[in-house]
Amino acid sequence: MISITLPDGSVRQYDKGITAMQIALSISEGLARNVLAAEVNGEVWDASRPIDEDSSVKLLTWNDPKGKATYWHSSAHLLAEALEALYPGTKFGIGPAIETGFYYDVDFGDKTLSSDDFKQIEDKMIELAKAKNEYIRKPVSKADAIAYFTEKDDEYKLDLIKDLPDGAITFYTQGNFTDLCRGPHIPNTGFVKAAKLMSLAGAYWRGDESRKQLTRIYGVTFPKASELTEYLHLIEEAKKRDHRKLGKELELFAFSEKVGMGLPLWLPKGTALRERLQNFLQKAQVKSGYEQVMTPHIGHKNLYITSGHYEKYGADSFQPIKTPQEGEEFLLKPMNCPHHCEIYKTKPRSYKDLPVRLAEFGTVYRYEQSGELHGLTRVRGFTQDDAHLFCRPDQVKEEFKKVIDLVLYVFKALGFNNYTAQVSLRDPENKTKYIGSDENWALAETAIIESAAEKGLTTVVELGEAAFYGPKLDFMVKDAIGRKWQLGTIQVDYNLPERFELEYTGSDNQKHRPVMIHRAPFGSMERFIAVLIEHCAGNFPLWLSPEQFIILPISEKYEDYAKKLSDELKDSDICGLIDFRDEKIGRKIRDAEVKKIPYMLIVGEKEAAEGQVSVRKHGQGDLGSMSIEEFKQQIIKEITV
Ligand SMILES: [Zn+2]
Ligand SMILES: [Zn+2]
Repeated sequence: MISITLPDGSVRQYDKGITAMQIALSISEGLARNVLAAEVNGEVWDASRPIDEDSSVKLLTWNDPKGKATYWHSSAHLLAEALEALYPGTKFGIGPAIETGFYYDVDFGDKTLSSDDFKQIEDKMIELAKAKNEYIRKPVSKADAIAYFTEKDDEYKLDLIKDLPDGAITFYTQGNFTDLCRGPHIPNTGFVKAAKLMSLAGAYWRGDESRKQLTRIYGVTFPKASELTEYLHLIEEAKKRDHRKLGKELELFAFSEKVGMGLPLWLPKGTALRERLQNFLQKAQVKSGYEQVMTPHIGHKNLYITSGHYEKYGADSFQPIKTPQEGEEFLLKPMNCPHHCEIYKTKPRSYKDLPVRLAEFGTVYRYEQSGELHGLTRVRGFTQDDAHLFCRPDQVKEEFKKVIDLVLYVFKALGFNNYTAQVSLRDPENKTKYIGSDENWALAETAIIESAAEKGLTTVVELGEAAFYGPKLDFMVKDAIGRKWQLGTIQVDYNLPERFELEYTGSDNQKHRPVMIHRAPFGSMERFIAVLIEHCAGNFPLWLSPEQFIILPISEKYEDYAKKLSDELKDSDICGLIDFRDEKIGRKIRDAEVKKIPYMLIVGEKEAAEGQVSVRKHGQGDLGSMSIEEFKQQIIKEITV
């Protein structure tokens, strides 16, 4: 008999050679129907693989990321089986699972595949899936593996086998298709109920441009047809909300090849939006005892040698800027922290002065690979809503709680009601990887865990995910269509105070090192605004809207009245514009709807005569006539809510 420990800590006895599937069956048939694979002593295995020794076993289902990955990787085999059936002689590269779905790199020889072929392939996959063929694992010798793929004339598999040690090679067969694979896989193809091929791309074999370009086929599969429908709907919805598309339509930001890739240009409306966000956060920060500072966009190379950033990013980032003076070099600022450390050092600090909280909307530059750039979410220059808190070790918890409050305040104001937090701690088995004393780590880790619990956050704790210089707390938000984004972060740092020799005088009159906390509730202005655009589909809360109203005069005759209204609203800090175009009112309304302007104020003869406005709200329609004073009150009420 062997002992199997399940995730809930219970231990069950089974015969040696039991499989995860049999374990599932011994618990419930319903569970067994959903088991895709199992984690055995931390390694993902086929559910049908015999377990020969005492082990801890976690059964993996669709709801488990590792279960999903196994499912999608197995679907890549199914795609290959379908391709081989439809296009005999096809050669196969690799077919991994990706974040959503899978791909397979394929050499079709002379044939060029197009999306017109997708339907036929998808149908074939489902036909093969219905056969419920098992994925059968078979260890093979290197010689046999070479013989098999030589016979099949698949140079890609032969190239892969070349690097594998004899004795570690396995084949997996489902139906008529055999693949070289380490596994694991789902029990049988019958779990795949819906398949969709998404796109095609070229991919060099082994990522090497001097080698052959294969066709990469991206696909996704689901255990229920309804899940595919939902997924396709989500993609459509995401396309509509794409911040790159909306950013252009709403005239928020642009990119110019001439200025440089990944360097956003903020247009007037985008700038207005961004400034409102900054003012909002800055106001909250001032209330929480932060002091605003400003530092230059460049710094002496030595500054970043001291901070360690040069060693870490120097070679892969923007290269130093030289000056006419021999040997003098500056770097574009990759981080604001070193500058803030120097501000801390401008005067002696006592224990009574701490915490010192320095905040800056600081623009930093990092050289991202051109292929990695994506709208505002991956850029080469961005502005962090940065702040550094310099505190005593006994203040870490209190400061952490305050920062959590601030982050939650920001999320609430912007309608992110669904969030979780990840606590990243050090790996207790590998303490030498980290800088800072055991005592301080214990203090900071407890502070984070306790603050998160006291603030009622839903957290996951990840061991070994801390930075080498300190533990951290990261916030993930779920947007309106269920996608997860990492936003704000709070990070404890023992490293920089050491490197910059920061000090304060304690109550004992001795010198002590402060602890530094880095924090950014938005993360960066660029990324946050991108996420916000996609979350609210461009319908910003009224207080953030760069244009809160548009006045639509029915004809030229009412322009003076329109101007008078506009001035009156602007005096109350309500901003907007007038549509002076010589267009029909219906057209003006449609255009204002497209621009997602929250309020449309229609003025004609009746309104001008009675000193009223006819109000329409974006997405809601007609709100009727009201006086300008009533309208103002409505807006002010909405903004303050
Ligand atoms: Zn496989
Ligand atoms: Zn920092």
